[in-house]
Amino acid sequence: MDLENFYEYKAVMILNNLNNSTYLKNLNRIRFYGCKKCKNCKMVDCGICIACKDKPRFGGLGIRKQACKYKPRCLNISKTIN
Ligand SMILES: [Zn+2]
Ligand SMILES: [Zn+2]
Repeated sequence: MDLENFYEYKAVMILNNLNNSTYLKNLNRIRFYGCKKCKNCKMVDCGICIACKDKPRFGGLGIRKQACKYKPRCLNISKTIN
């Protein structure tokens, strides 16, 4: 299987999984937490913003599933966008 076919295969796999909520949850989780290796990812959540207060870790219900409002974005994610 060459590289082009591999990406096509992956795209089909993603489309097949679009109705799979567990798959989408995992996809959001990856985007949400970043690489976990850069200095921004290693920063601690503030624990006082709306996003942090929703996290089960801070006594929330875990509905929003958003990144801390005061935590800078993952350095490696911004690299790939630019
Ligand atoms: Zn926060
Ligand atoms: Zn990162």
